[in-house]
Amino acid sequence: MKLFTPDTAYINPKALEYECGKKAEEFLKKSNVPIIYSKNVKIDEKSISKNYAKSKQTILITTNFQKKLQTCKPSADYQFSLSSSCPANCEYCYLQTTQGEKPYMKIFVNIEDILNVIKDHIDKNIPSITTFECSSITDPIALEHITGSLKKCIEYFASTEYGRLRLVTKFDNVDSLLDINHNKHTKFRFSINSEYVINNFEHNTCSLSQRIEAIRKIANSGYPIGFIIAPIMLYDNWEYEYKNLIENLKDALSDYSEEISFELIQHRFTSTAKELILNRFPNTKLDLNEDKRQLKWGPYGKFKYVYPKDDSSRIKDYMTNLINKNFSNSFIEYFT
Ligand code: SF4
Repeated sequence: MKLFTPDTAYINPKALEYECGKKAEEFLKKSNVPIIYSKNVKIDEKSISKNYAKSKQTILITTNFQKKLQTCKPSADYQFSLSSSCPANCEYCYLQTTQGEKPYMKIFVNIEDILNVIKDHIDKNIPSITTFECSSITDPIALEHITGSLKKCIEYFASTEYGRLRLVTKFDNVDSLLDINHNKHTKFRFSINSEYVINNFEHNTCSLSQRIEAIRKIANSGYPIGFIIAPIMLYDNWEYEYKNLIENLKDALSDYSEEISFELIQHRFTSTAKELILNRFPNTKLDLNEDKRQLKWGPYGKFKYVYPKDDSSRIKDYMTNLINKNFSNSFIEYFT
Protein backbone atom coordinates (compact mmCIF):
# COMPACT_ATOMS: atom_id res chain seq x y z
CA MET A 1 0.00 0.00 0.00
CA LYS A 2 1.19 3.52 -0.74
CA LEU A 3 2.84 5.06 2.32
CA PHE A 4 0.81 7.72 4.10
CA THR A 5 1.74 11.36 3.48
CA PRO A 6 -0.25 13.99 5.39
CA ASP A 7 -1.73 17.10 3.77
CA THR A 8 -0.48 19.30 6.63
CA ALA A 9 2.18 18.84 9.30
CA TYR A 10 2.82 20.69 12.53
CA ILE A 11 6.19 20.37 14.22
CA ASN A 12 6.62 21.27 17.86
CA PRO A 13 10.04 23.04 17.67
CA LYS A 14 11.13 21.01 20.73
CA ALA A 15 10.78 17.83 18.63
CA LEU A 16 13.70 18.93 16.45
CA GLU A 17 16.07 18.33 19.38
CA TYR A 18 15.64 14.61 18.72
CA GLU A 19 17.02 12.44 15.93
CA CYS A 20 13.57 11.02 15.08
CA GLY A 21 12.19 14.57 14.97
CA LYS A 22 14.82 15.58 12.43
CA LYS A 23 14.11 12.45 10.41
CA ALA A 24 10.40 13.28 10.37
CA GLU A 25 11.10 16.85 9.24
CA GLU A 26 13.32 15.56 6.43
CA PHE A 27 10.59 13.16 5.27
CA LEU A 28 7.97 15.93 5.29
CA LYS A 29 10.19 18.34 3.37
CA LYS A 30 11.05 15.70 0.78
CA SER A 31 7.36 14.92 0.39
CA ASN A 32 6.53 18.63 -0.07
CA VAL A 33 4.15 18.64 2.89
CA PRO A 34 3.43 22.17 4.19
CA ILE A 35 4.97 22.47 7.66
CA ILE A 36 3.84 24.77 10.46
CA TYR A 37 6.33 25.08 13.33
CA SER A 38 4.00 25.10 16.31
CA LYS A 39 2.61 22.66 18.86
CA ASN A 40 -0.88 24.10 18.52
CA VAL A 41 -2.86 22.38 15.80
CA LYS A 42 -5.68 24.43 14.29
CA ILE A 43 -8.45 22.56 12.56
CA ASP A 44 -11.66 24.47 12.17
CA GLU A 45 -13.83 23.06 9.41
CA LYS A 46 -17.54 23.66 9.03
CA SER A 47 -18.87 20.29 10.13
CA ILE A 48 -18.04 17.32 12.36
CA SER A 49 -17.36 15.09 9.37
CA LYS A 50 -15.07 17.68 7.75
CA ASN A 51 -13.14 18.18 10.99
CA TYR A 52 -12.71 14.42 11.16
CA ALA A 53 -11.55 14.13 7.52
CA LYS A 54 -9.09 17.03 7.88
CA SER A 55 -7.72 15.61 11.15
CA LYS A 56 -6.98 12.30 9.50
CA GLN A 57 -4.72 14.18 7.06
CA THR A 58 -2.90 16.21 9.71
CA ILE A 59 0.05 15.25 11.89
CA LEU A 60 1.83 16.85 14.81
CA ILE A 61 5.44 15.87 15.42
CA THR A 62 5.96 16.26 19.14
CA THR A 63 7.23 14.71 22.39
CA ASN A 64 5.73 12.54 25.11
CA PHE A 65 7.02 12.67 28.68
CA GLN A 66 4.45 10.39 30.32
CA LYS A 67 6.18 8.74 33.29
CA LYS A 68 3.58 6.30 34.53
CA LEU A 69 2.18 3.84 32.01
CA GLN A 70 -1.42 2.68 32.00
CA THR A 71 -2.27 -0.98 32.35
CA CYS A 72 -3.58 -2.77 29.29
CA LYS A 73 -5.56 -5.92 30.10
CA PRO A 74 -6.15 -8.42 28.55
CA SER A 75 -3.52 -7.72 25.92
CA ALA A 76 -0.46 -6.81 28.05
CA ASP A 77 0.71 -5.51 31.42
CA TYR A 78 1.19 -1.91 30.21
CA GLN A 79 0.61 0.26 27.16
CA PHE A 80 2.75 3.03 25.73
CA SER A 81 2.55 5.03 22.52
CA LEU A 82 4.92 6.09 19.80
CA SER A 83 1.99 7.88 18.17
CA SER A 84 -1.71 8.47 18.61
CA SER A 85 -4.53 8.15 16.08
CA CYS A 86 -3.77 6.81 12.59
CA PRO A 87 -4.44 7.62 8.92
CA ALA A 88 -7.17 5.01 8.48
CA ASN A 89 -10.91 5.61 8.74
CA CYS A 90 -12.41 2.47 10.25
CA GLU A 91 -16.07 3.23 10.85
CA TYR A 92 -16.27 1.09 13.98
CA CYS A 93 -12.94 2.25 15.48
CA TYR A 94 -13.22 2.33 19.28
CA LEU A 95 -10.97 5.39 19.31
CA GLN A 96 -13.85 7.37 17.76
CA THR A 97 -15.00 8.32 21.23
CA THR A 98 -11.63 8.71 22.98
CA GLN A 99 -9.77 11.04 20.62
CA GLY A 100 -12.26 13.85 20.43
CA GLU A 101 -13.77 15.61 17.47
CA LYS A 102 -10.38 16.22 15.84
CA PRO A 103 -8.33 13.03 15.99
CA TYR A 104 -5.23 14.36 14.24
CA MET A 105 -2.15 12.17 14.52
CA LYS A 106 0.57 12.86 17.05
CA ILE A 107 3.98 11.30 16.51
CA PHE A 108 6.25 11.21 19.55
CA VAL A 109 9.92 11.51 18.71
CA ASN A 110 11.73 11.39 22.08
CA ILE A 111 12.09 7.65 21.78
CA GLU A 112 15.00 7.42 24.25
CA ASP A 113 12.84 8.98 27.02
CA ILE A 114 9.98 6.64 26.18
CA LEU A 115 12.32 3.63 26.34
CA ASN A 116 13.65 4.81 29.73
CA VAL A 117 10.12 4.83 31.14
CA ILE A 118 9.61 1.32 29.77
CA LYS A 119 12.88 0.21 31.37
CA ASP A 120 11.72 1.54 34.76
CA HIS A 121 8.53 -0.51 34.52
CA ILE A 122 10.48 -3.64 33.49
CA ASP A 123 13.01 -3.23 36.30
CA LYS A 124 10.32 -2.90 38.96
CA ASN A 125 8.88 -6.26 37.95
CA ILE A 126 12.06 -8.38 37.66
CA PRO A 127 12.29 -11.41 37.75
CA SER A 128 8.86 -11.56 36.06
CA ILE A 129 8.47 -10.81 32.37
CA THR A 130 6.62 -7.53 31.68
CA THR A 131 4.63 -7.16 28.48
CA PHE A 132 3.89 -3.87 26.70
CA GLU A 133 1.31 -3.04 24.03
CA CYS A 134 2.13 -0.18 21.66
CA SER A 135 -1.03 -0.21 19.51
CA SER A 136 -3.75 0.81 21.95
CA ILE A 137 -4.27 4.30 20.55
CA THR A 138 -2.63 4.08 17.14
CA ASP A 139 -1.48 1.83 14.32
CA PRO A 140 2.31 1.94 14.73
CA ILE A 141 3.08 0.43 11.30
CA ALA A 142 1.01 3.04 9.45
CA LEU A 143 3.33 5.84 10.60
CA GLU A 144 6.65 4.00 10.96
CA HIS A 145 8.12 5.36 7.69
CA ILE A 146 8.03 8.90 9.14
CA THR A 147 10.34 8.31 12.12
CA GLY A 148 11.63 4.72 12.19
CA SER A 149 11.01 4.71 15.96
CA LEU A 150 9.24 1.34 16.08
CA LYS A 151 12.39 -0.27 14.68
CA LYS A 152 14.38 1.26 17.55
CA CYS A 153 11.81 0.02 19.99
CA ILE A 154 11.88 -3.55 18.65
CA GLU A 155 15.68 -3.54 18.88
CA TYR A 156 15.49 -2.26 22.45
CA PHE A 157 13.11 -5.06 23.46
CA ALA A 158 15.43 -7.58 21.75
CA SER A 159 18.15 -6.49 24.14
CA THR A 160 16.06 -6.76 27.33
CA GLU A 161 15.77 -10.00 29.19
CA TYR A 162 12.51 -9.25 30.97
CA GLY A 163 10.52 -7.04 28.55
CA ARG A 164 8.27 -8.14 25.70
CA LEU A 165 6.53 -6.00 23.10
CA ARG A 166 3.21 -6.62 21.38
CA LEU A 167 1.77 -4.69 18.50
CA VAL A 168 -1.14 -4.93 16.11
CA THR A 169 -1.62 -3.49 12.66
CA LYS A 170 -3.77 -3.31 9.55
CA PHE A 171 -0.86 -2.06 7.44
CA ASP A 172 1.85 -3.78 5.41
CA ASN A 173 4.83 -1.40 5.69
CA VAL A 174 7.00 -4.00 7.40
CA ASP A 175 10.10 -4.22 5.18
CA SER A 176 12.31 -2.08 7.45
CA LEU A 177 11.57 -4.49 10.32
CA LEU A 178 12.48 -7.75 8.62
CA ASP A 179 16.25 -7.89 8.87
CA ILE A 180 16.69 -6.52 12.38
CA ASN A 181 17.49 -8.28 15.62
CA HIS A 182 14.12 -8.82 17.35
CA ASN A 183 15.19 -11.83 19.43
CA LYS A 184 11.56 -13.04 19.24
CA HIS A 185 10.73 -10.48 21.95
CA THR A 186 8.21 -8.63 19.77
CA LYS A 187 4.93 -10.27 18.91
CA PHE A 188 3.37 -9.09 15.68
CA ARG A 189 -0.39 -9.39 15.47
CA PHE A 190 -2.34 -8.55 12.35
CA SER A 191 -5.87 -7.30 12.56
CA ILE A 192 -7.85 -9.19 9.96
CA ASN A 193 -11.47 -9.60 9.04
CA SER A 194 -13.89 -10.91 6.42
CA GLU A 195 -13.98 -9.26 2.99
CA TYR A 196 -17.34 -7.68 3.83
CA VAL A 197 -16.01 -5.98 6.98
CA ILE A 198 -12.75 -4.82 5.39
CA ASN A 199 -14.41 -3.53 2.21
CA ASN A 200 -17.28 -1.72 3.92
CA PHE A 201 -15.81 -0.40 7.13
CA GLU A 202 -11.99 -0.28 7.08
CA HIS A 203 -11.29 2.65 4.73
CA ASN A 204 -7.68 3.52 3.92
CA THR A 205 -6.24 0.33 5.38
CA CYS A 206 -4.47 -2.46 3.51
CA SER A 207 -6.51 -5.06 1.66
CA LEU A 208 -6.66 -8.57 3.06
CA SER A 209 -4.20 -9.85 0.44
CA GLN A 210 -1.72 -7.07 1.31
CA ARG A 211 -2.00 -7.93 5.00
CA ILE A 212 -1.50 -11.63 4.26
CA GLU A 213 1.62 -10.84 2.25
CA ALA A 214 2.97 -8.79 5.19
CA ILE A 215 2.12 -11.62 7.62
CA ARG A 216 4.13 -14.03 5.49
CA LYS A 217 7.14 -11.70 5.53
CA ILE A 218 6.95 -11.21 9.29
CA ALA A 219 6.50 -14.94 9.92
CA ASN A 220 9.48 -15.74 7.67
CA SER A 221 11.57 -13.27 9.69
CA GLY A 222 10.99 -15.36 12.79
CA TYR A 223 8.74 -13.02 14.80
CA PRO A 224 6.10 -14.63 17.01
CA ILE A 225 2.76 -13.93 15.29
CA GLY A 226 -0.91 -13.73 16.08
CA PHE A 227 -4.20 -12.46 14.75
CA ILE A 228 -6.89 -10.23 16.10
CA ILE A 229 -10.19 -10.84 14.40
CA ALA A 230 -12.19 -7.77 15.33
CA PRO A 231 -14.89 -6.76 15.18
CA ILE A 232 -16.59 -10.02 14.26
CA MET A 233 -19.98 -9.18 12.75
CA LEU A 234 -23.12 -11.12 12.01
CA TYR A 235 -24.51 -10.52 8.52
CA ASP A 236 -25.80 -12.65 5.63
CA ASN A 237 -23.02 -14.98 4.61
CA TRP A 238 -20.82 -14.28 7.64
CA GLU A 239 -20.05 -17.94 8.23
CA TYR A 240 -18.92 -18.50 4.66
CA GLU A 241 -16.73 -15.38 4.63
CA TYR A 242 -15.01 -16.07 7.97
CA LYS A 243 -14.41 -19.65 6.79
CA ASN A 244 -12.77 -18.26 3.64
CA LEU A 245 -10.67 -15.92 5.77
CA ILE A 246 -9.32 -18.69 8.00
CA GLU A 247 -8.70 -21.00 5.04
CA ASN A 248 -6.78 -18.23 3.23
CA LEU A 249 -4.63 -17.75 6.30
CA LYS A 250 -4.02 -21.46 6.55
CA ASP A 251 -2.80 -21.58 2.92
CA ALA A 252 -0.55 -18.55 3.43
CA LEU A 253 1.03 -20.01 6.56
CA SER A 254 1.19 -23.69 5.59
CA ASP A 255 4.96 -23.77 6.23
CA TYR A 256 4.77 -21.95 9.61
CA SER A 257 4.89 -24.38 12.53
CA GLU A 258 5.37 -22.02 15.51
CA GLU A 259 2.47 -21.15 17.77
CA ILE A 260 -0.14 -18.68 16.42
CA SER A 261 -2.46 -16.83 18.79
CA PHE A 262 -5.95 -15.59 17.99
CA GLU A 263 -7.87 -12.85 19.80
CA LEU A 264 -11.56 -12.69 18.98
CA ILE A 265 -13.71 -9.63 19.61
CA GLN A 266 -17.37 -9.38 18.67
CA HIS A 267 -18.75 -6.09 17.37
CA ARG A 268 -19.96 -3.71 20.07
CA PHE A 269 -20.79 -0.04 20.34
CA THR A 270 -21.76 2.54 22.93
CA SER A 271 -24.47 5.19 22.54
CA THR A 272 -21.80 7.90 22.30
CA ALA A 273 -19.94 5.98 19.59
CA LYS A 274 -23.16 5.48 17.62
CA GLU A 275 -23.86 9.21 17.57
CA LEU A 276 -20.32 10.03 16.44
CA ILE A 277 -20.26 7.31 13.79
CA LEU A 278 -23.55 8.53 12.30
CA ASN A 279 -22.15 12.07 12.14
CA ARG A 280 -18.91 11.00 10.52
CA PHE A 281 -20.31 8.27 8.26
CA PRO A 282 -23.97 9.17 7.60
CA ASN A 283 -24.36 6.33 5.09
CA THR A 284 -22.75 3.68 7.24
CA LYS A 285 -23.87 0.08 6.81
CA LEU A 286 -22.81 -0.73 10.37
CA ASP A 287 -25.55 -2.49 12.29
CA LEU A 288 -26.14 -0.07 15.18
CA ASN A 289 -29.64 -1.21 16.07
CA GLU A 290 -29.85 -1.37 19.88
CA ASP A 291 -32.96 -3.56 19.69
CA LYS A 292 -30.89 -6.41 18.33
CA ARG A 293 -28.28 -6.17 21.08
CA GLN A 294 -27.92 -6.64 24.80
CA LEU A 295 -26.33 -4.24 27.23
CA LYS A 296 -23.06 -5.09 28.92
CA TRP A 297 -21.25 -3.02 31.52
CA GLY A 298 -17.80 -2.13 30.18
CA PRO A 299 -14.52 -1.71 32.09
CA TYR A 300 -14.35 1.99 31.16
CA GLY A 301 -17.53 2.87 33.03
CA LYS A 302 -19.90 2.78 30.08
CA PHE A 303 -22.60 0.45 28.88
CA LYS A 304 -21.95 -1.12 25.53
CA TYR A 305 -24.24 -2.95 23.16
CA VAL A 306 -23.03 -6.47 22.39
CA TYR A 307 -24.74 -9.35 20.60
CA PRO A 308 -27.32 -11.22 22.69
CA LYS A 309 -26.05 -14.35 24.45
CA ASP A 310 -27.28 -16.81 21.79
CA ASP A 311 -25.63 -14.88 18.96
CA SER A 312 -22.44 -14.34 20.88
CA SER A 313 -22.19 -18.07 21.74
CA ARG A 314 -22.83 -18.91 18.10
CA ILE A 315 -19.97 -16.63 17.00
CA LYS A 316 -17.64 -17.98 19.66
CA ASP A 317 -18.34 -21.65 18.87
CA TYR A 318 -18.15 -21.18 15.13
CA MET A 319 -14.90 -19.21 15.15
CA THR A 320 -13.27 -21.50 17.74
CA ASN A 321 -14.07 -24.64 15.73
CA LEU A 322 -12.90 -23.01 12.52
CA ILE A 323 -9.57 -21.97 13.98
CA ASN A 324 -8.94 -25.26 15.78
CA LYS A 325 -9.80 -27.24 12.65
CA ASN A 326 -7.42 -25.27 10.43
CA PHE A 327 -4.54 -24.48 12.79
CA SER A 328 -3.23 -27.26 15.01
CA ASN A 329 -0.56 -24.78 16.21
CA SER A 330 -3.09 -22.14 17.34
CA PHE A 331 -4.42 -21.02 20.66
CA ILE A 332 -7.28 -18.63 21.33
CA GLU A 333 -6.26 -16.02 23.90
CA TYR A 334 -9.77 -14.72 24.49
CA PHE A 335 -13.20 -14.12 23.00
CA THR A 336 -15.00 -11.04 24.18
S1 SF4 B 1 -6.52 1.16 11.85
FE1 SF4 B 1 -7.06 0.79 14.00
S2 SF4 B 1 -6.69 2.75 15.04
FE2 SF4 B 1 -6.77 3.18 12.84
S3 SF4 B 1 -8.93 3.76 12.44
FE3 SF4 B 1 -8.72 1.54 12.05
S4 SF4 B 1 -9.31 0.58 13.99
FE4 SF4 B 1 -8.86 2.75 14.44
